[in-house]
Amino acid sequence: KPMEGRISDIGPRHYTDFLPPVIQKNYGKWLYHEIIEPGVLMHKAESGDEVYTVRVGSARLVSVGLIREICDIADKHCGGHVRWTTRNNVEFMVDSKDKVGPLKDDLMSRKFAGGSYKFPIGGTGASVPNIVHTQGWVHCHTPATDASGPVKVIMDELFKEFQSMELPAPMRLAVACCLNMCGACHCSDIAVVGIHRKPPLIDHEVLENICEIPLAVAACPTAAIRPSKTEFEGKEVKTVAIKEERCMFCGNCYTMCAALPLADAEGDGCAIMVGGKVSNRISNPKFSKVVVAYVPNEPPRWPSLVKTIRQIVDAYKKGANKYERVGDWAERIGWERFFDVTGLEFSKHLIDDFRDPAYYTWRQTTNFKW
Ligand code: SF4
Ligand code: SF4
Repeated sequence: KPMEGRISDIGPRHYTDFLPPVIQKNYGKWLYHEIIEPGVLMHKAESGDEVYTVRVGSARLVSVGLIREICDIADKHCGGHVRWTTRNNVEFMVDSKDKVGPLKDDLMSRKFAGGSYKFPIGGTGASVPNIVHTQGWVHCHTPATDASGPVKVIMDELFKEFQSMELPAPMRLAVACCLNMCGACHCSDIAVVGIHRKPPLIDHEVLENICEIPLAVAACPTAAIRPSKTEFEGKEVKTVAIKEERCMFCGNCYTMCAALPLADAEGDGCAIMVGGKVSNRISNPKFSKVVVAYVPNEPPRWPSLVKTIRQIVDAYKKGANKYERVGDWAERIGWERFFDVTGLEFSKHLIDDFRDPAYYTWRQTTNFKW
């Protein structure tokens, strides 16, 4: 239906059309909210109305069948309303406390054939909510690691931390499968970023036809690419040449030119960053720092990656004060000590700039040279 005040009816309908009636009624008039148990929030309105939200984890890349099931649950318990958070948690909202129990029972009774929960409840407060993550090997063209695979195994490992609220503070995790970082890696407590470690291959056969050579040259931040010519099947073709010692494996050129692929089974893997946050509680927002320069890709269960993240989580749980995020904790004890207590190795790859000792900086990007 046309909305009042809208110039046209093109595009998605106005979001207020989709709000549950109790939220429409109390829009902008909320007094406070509290977490009444792990995974369940209560929002109180000035009118006295209450909204109870039950949060469940989701795999983000889900089947149409699972989405239909989510919609059926929303129809059954929530008047047809459901929402996804920015971290891909699914939230079911009901307007009275007596509806929470049946909704929770229904959610926890639904299991996959292997017995795992389809809709595990959790992810609130001092817990690990769903991991913000990107597309991975299935959907994107530049990944150096998968997204859904590492996320699944990390969340399996941290399931207790998802279901309970026993951490010192909320712990936000992110996974981005390349350093374009479509996920929020630069400001997460723990972030996994896919990195390449080898320069692009050059497909001389097709480069001239599928690539704007000046664009590929301009895309390189280190000026490693120059126009070139080569012999291919007896004739001269226009192509590019890459100065490998200048390449930092960022993949910008591949984004511009599909004839410069740099995915490599041995070279690709993950870096781990920690200590970022967007909150300004206790201290200002912070960027994440690289603390592990490389972990190999080990599908399907990424054991080294999972073990390393467990080490960081356990050391944080043991050493942090209440309300301290990972970055606050590391800054209080000192980053040197952070490496001691987590058992991580400090390597030269974690330093950004060796040109002048006065300006050594700690790496906050994953564009670096091996
Ligand atoms: Fe694609 Fe990189 Fe984004 Fe992953 S992080 S979805 S590989 S651009
Ligand atoms: Fe340049 Fe990055 Fe391509 Fe290497 S991967 S050639 S640094 S654009």
